[in-house]
Amino acid sequence: MQKSNPKKKIFPAQPQNRPGLEFKMKPEPVYDDLSPGANKLANKKCVITGGDSGIGRAVAIAYAKEGADVAIIYLSEDKDAEETAEVIREKYKRECLLIPADISKEAACKTAVSKITRKFKHIDVLVNNAGVHYPEESITEITTANLQKTFAVNVYSIFWLVKACLPYFKKGGCIINTSSVTAYRGSANLLDYSATKGAIVSLTRSLSANLISKGIRVNGVAPGPIWTPLIPSSFESKKVTSFGTETPMKRPGQPVEVAPSYVFLASDDSKYITGQFIHPNGGEIVNG
Ligand code: NAD
Ligand code: MG
Repeated sequence: MQKSNPKKKIFPAQPQNRPGLEFKMKPEPVYDDLSPGANKLANKKCVITGGDSGIGRAVAIAYAKEGADVAIIYLSEDKDAEETAEVIREKYKRECLLIPADISKEAACKTAVSKITRKFKHIDVLVNNAGVHYPEESITEITTANLQKTFAVNVYSIFWLVKACLPYFKKGGCIINTSSVTAYRGSANLLDYSATKGAIVSLTRSLSANLISKGIRVNGVAPGPIWTPLIPSSFESKKVTSFGTETPMKRPGQPVEVAPSYVFLASDDSKYITGQFIHPNGGEIVNG
């Protein structure tokens, strides 16, 4: 496993509580660029978990730029969510529904989807992107509460949200799941998290086979180190200040550099692709 170089400081120390807040980050992550949209998702109705911040925010904004309406499910970060919605509504003139919900609970997943479908009537794209991690030095330090929370948010919610959304999908629908480079190469201090991300890879492959006859494609994205609120809210300062410098490109990615993979997988450009993962990870070869 590659290690970051703690001597190479590229970010200031900035401890935060969970869930991390994007507006408090220094520097703030880059979630949009000046590239024009190409209407690749014209009038699609898209649901994105964790769309308030980080990777999910960049995906939500990229989808709106491509002509989609977006519903964002997030835990509690109202200010981050409002900022994302403002960009979508004011800059890209698309609809944005904000749905605070704790998706570690099945009932909350069902309620969130019923709120969204009351407005959107159907769903074209579901992006399962919300996630948590609790780094620990040793397996003996992983509490059962955190283990269960990690699996509930990262994996169970995908089952619950897909179940709730399925009746609202049409032929041509897409499900896109966020895994991680840790699913492929392991992570010594994220045992439970990397196990959830491996489960997401297997689930994506199996669900793609299961839904192919309905004309629904299921793919995923496995990012490397990306500068998002997850990082200062979960890792100790030493890891934060040199975050991402261990990649072959020697730097972390920005959310805006990950979002195009999600646009590709949601659009007809990828219509012959299902059950696969894209790896925006700064050049680490992981295969699969
Ligand atoms: P982020 O903190 O911006 O996004 C995670 C989101 O998950 C939060 O905004 C939060 O609202 C949501 N969330 C957490 N618990 C929830 C709950 N119980 N109910 C509803 N929503 C909940 O961080 P991010 O890095 O953009 O994370 C997005 C995804 O990317 C995660 O699945 C993460 O594991 C994955 N990922 C991140 C990196 C990275 O380096 N940042 C690398 C690989 C994979
Ligand atoms: Mg957030």
